[in-house]
Amino acid sequence: MTDAPTKTLSLEEVKALAKSVLVSAGMDERGSEILADLVMRSERDGPRSHGLRMLPVYAQSFESNYANPTANPTVKRIAPGVLRGDGDNGYYQIVGVEARDELIGMARENGIASFTCANCHHLGALRFDTEPLAQAGLVSLGVVNSLSMVVPQGGLRPVFGTNPMSFACPREGAEPVVWDQASSVAALMDVRMAAAEGHDLPRPSGLDTSGQPTTDPNAILETRSLLPFGEHKGAAIAFLIEVLGAALAGGTLSADNQERESFGALNIKGGATLIAIDPSRFGNPAFNVYVTRICAEIDGNGTARVPGDGRLKNRATAETNGVVVASDLLAQLQSL
Ligand code: NDP
Repeated sequence: MTDAPTKTLSLEEVKALAKSVLVSAGMDERGSEILADLVMRSERDGPRSHGLRMLPVYAQSFESNYANPTANPTVKRIAPGVLRGDGDNGYYQIVGVEARDELIGMARENGIASFTCANCHHLGALRFDTEPLAQAGLVSLGVVNSLSMVVPQGGLRPVFGTNPMSFACPREGAEPVVWDQASSVAALMDVRMAAAEGHDLPRPSGLDTSGQPTTDPNAILETRSLLPFGEHKGAAIAFLIEVLGAALAGGTLSADNQERESFGALNIKGGATLIAIDPSRFGNPAFNVYVTRICAEIDGNGTARVPGDGRLKNRATAETNGVVVASDLLAQLQSL
């Protein structure tokens, strides 16, 4: 790890910086407000790999005309429990905000409802897609497929994207439980961040040019071959996300998603699905008691913690102290 110079920014400063970069890249008011807020939340809660460091990727995607900075997404209810979106080649997060209230209403009406979206890009952490649903009292599962980078167990070439998923559920008397994770050992942005910061990854996360697992982020960026987490089990989860994300939505399969290369872009256009479940409609009035009990079994159990709760600690620290940002990143963003 290098001792590079840093600067501390308040969360308001992070959001203002993000918004100014997005607006300079041609993004409209509505979209830049939503994305800047998510960049700030990523810096605040983690994962920071999806915070300020993503701004050059967003900007490049607009400047190369790969993504639409003034997207006018549409959302349509096509079955009692199915809401379908078209992202107008913009970022998923914008159409996700557009769909949210209707999805919540449909889940309360039917017990379960889903939102599925194609023609959209997703660059962010999925936790911010599911958390608002849990804050509204719903259980939620979100997935998005991406670009083939993950090798199936025993395979010779990447088939799946880093295909992340997020789960969230309400927790009585406390912030919801919210976790999200890539299907790969490490998210690609974490590999890029480790390469930029000049350190190895904590565990073998991809293949080197001789096909051997390695912790060297530069070797992994060269082969663009990441390992699935948990060997064949993670590969099976990546398969599930390919079906729920790309196939249900009609988005591009990760294996076919090479279009971005002609734009020189680093972001990914896939399909996304968000499922919302109203636990009060499932016939178990003690749902909250169960969740409390599950969490109680974990907390205080050695060093275990409820998955995703690290974000709450990060949030409290960032709200008090702001966030520390590398000066070279700041200089890069200010020059965009
Ligand atoms: P991590 O492996 O860092 O974390 C996975 C989850 O586990 C998080 O919810 C994390 O939350 C939680 N966690 C971490 N350590 C522990 C622990 N010791 N005990 C209990 N829970 C723990 O995430 P990934 O590297 O897999 O993914 C990073 C991010 O990248 C995610 O936000 C994902 O959505 C995003 N991503 C987005 C993609 C896209 O195309 N849009 C593609 C791939 C990834 P916490 O630390 O807050 O507790």
